[in-house]
Amino acid sequence: MPALRPVDEVVDELLGYVEVTRKTELRSLDDALNCCVASDIQSEVHVPPQDNSAMDGYAMAFSDAELNRIYEISDRIPAGYIGNALVPGTLARIFTGASIPAGADTVVMQENTKQIDDGIELTQLPRDGENVRRQGQDIEQGATIVKGGDRLTAKTLGLVASVGVSKLEVKTPLKVAIMSTGDELVEPGEAISPGQIYNSNRFALAGMLKTLGFDVLDLGIVEDTREATLAALERAAEQADLILTSGGVSVGEEDHVKGAVETLGRLDVWKMAIKPGKPLAYGNVKGTPIFGLPGNPVSTYVTFHVVARTYLLAMQGFSKVQPDVYTVRSAFDFSGGGRREYLRVKLHNRDGATYAERFSNQGSGIMTSVVWADALAVAEVGQQIHPGDALTVLPLTGL
Ligand code: AMP
Ligand code: MG
Repeated sequence: MPALRPVDEVVDELLGYVEVTRKTELRSLDDALNCCVASDIQSEVHVPPQDNSAMDGYAMAFSDAELNRIYEISDRIPAGYIGNALVPGTLARIFTGASIPAGADTVVMQENTKQIDDGIELTQLPRDGENVRRQGQDIEQGATIVKGGDRLTAKTLGLVASVGVSKLEVKTPLKVAIMSTGDELVEPGEAISPGQIYNSNRFALAGMLKTLGFDVLDLGIVEDTREATLAALERAAEQADLILTSGGVSVGEEDHVKGAVETLGRLDVWKMAIKPGKPLAYGNVKGTPIFGLPGNPVSTYVTFHVVARTYLLAMQGFSKVQPDVYTVRSAFDFSGGGRREYLRVKLHNRDGATYAERFSNQGSGIMTSVVWADALAVAEVGQQIHPGDALTVLPLTGL
């Protein structure tokens, strides 16, 4: 039997086959969440656009600041309005976000003042420039605010909006076809007979794809026949940028994906040292890349997360394609086997450290373990893990 190949080596090789999409389109911010930015964007404005007040209080010249003096209030400047130049020796009432008037350089917060008849006395001396948010302190005019390959997350969309951009060029989201193979599968909501199970992979895969910003072409359940598999693959290759199948890539004679793909293109089964997860297949159908993911739900989920996801993100043009990894401490004993294992773990904070607790049943059909988990912990081949040992985890946030 040929040696199993390490996961990282397989992923690196697969990344070498990626053809990054060149399709782009102009999208409004309303419609761009999770899209991949096509090219760098520079700000045409300063943020904030002018020096403005960080507090409700009084704008003044720092050089005039002294205690035991009653100041006249010569102006009132709410946010959104430009005040007059400050009359020397006076204060201007000012509100958070309002522009600092000419002649003022410091804002005394309201809490550090006292009303005396019609005037104001300072109860504490300000620092020079206190409570003034400087023009351009967040973003200087001309600065690059997002780069080609960045993901337009909620926070990034907020940043783009803050420089007044309403539309931007994004990489058109890839359309990913998903096919669930298996005559035992029944869609949720339908009556189930002995020997059948509900199709869960379809929803897990479609959900992960949508969460990551891809378009999904769901081809539903594909019968375990060569004809049905060929027809579904041809349709997928015509309409989608990438095909994901679940199940049907093992060696049994009921597994038609491999043979059908070989008729239309090519498919290689990768002997990867991953648990859960083998077998995993990669190839193309008439030039459209295809991943044949294993059918067991946890295997589908893990191989998608570790392999297919990385490939898809690279194909979409994202600059960050590798999953996040953190180091935590193990709360359990574990002996690594002959394949790298992705254990479903839950994270807890205790005594200033983060500990990973392991789900008791790590079987490849135990989807409750994935739902329970916060992260996948990596147990390397032959690794002896003891409580307190450092452990690498891949968080599963949002997926
Ligand atoms: P296979 O790779 O087709 O041999 O499938 C491996 C295991 O995963 C079998 O127990 C299948 O019943 C199960 N399985 C395959 N596809 C799905 C699916 N879409 N949803 C839930 N379980 C599945
Ligand atoms: Mg099957």
